[in-house]
Amino acid sequence: MDDTKCMVSLAKFYLEFTVDESCGKCTPCRIGTKRMLEILEKICNGEGTELDLYKLEKLANNIKNASICGLGQSAPNPVLSTMKYFKEEYKEHVIKKECKALECRKMAKIAINPEKCKGCGLCQKNCPVNAIEGEKRDIRVINQDICIKCGTCLTSCPFKAIGN
Ligand code: SF4
Ligand code: SF4
Ligand code: SF4
Repeated sequence: MDDTKCMVSLAKFYLEFTVDESCGKCTPCRIGTKRMLEILEKICNGEGTELDLYKLEKLANNIKNASICGLGQSAPNPVLSTMKYFKEEYKEHVIKKECKALECRKMAKIAINPEKCKGCGLCQKNCPVNAIEGEKRDIRVINQDICIKCGTCLTSCPFKAIGN
């Protein structure tokens, strides 16, 4: 993992797993992890607030302390450790509504850097919804009203001209 990985999405990924695996015997794990997942989904969708960060941390510590077995006791760890070491990234998600890794697509504004674009048209060819405008060797532009933020163009540009 490097700086192209979103730590909030990573925490969400692990929590999805533990929510699925919870046997349901005790309340903190059965219900608490679901509530944590809802908060993470909200943050990744660009709807999170600073209060959500507070709630998430509090919930995580309570679930860790009150669950019966190792699954519930360890389920909040990915959230707690990413919040400890990557707090700024969480804050960027809730305050600036920005995911630098572009993994939280709903809040991403995917754009073409005109200084880097060579007008090859590869991104345009691969866009599933024809959101990229321009002809021949023109510098391409993404129409934000049409773009569904699928991310296909991010990997199709050979000149790394597309980002946020
Ligand atoms: S902590 Fe363990 S016992 Fe409690 S619901 Fe989760 S998996 Fe079941
Ligand atoms: S693939 Fe890259 S260089 Fe080619 S047109 Fe698209 S943004 Fe420009
Ligand atoms: S993110 Fe997807 S929909 Fe948006 S411009 Fe790129 S390829 Fe097209």
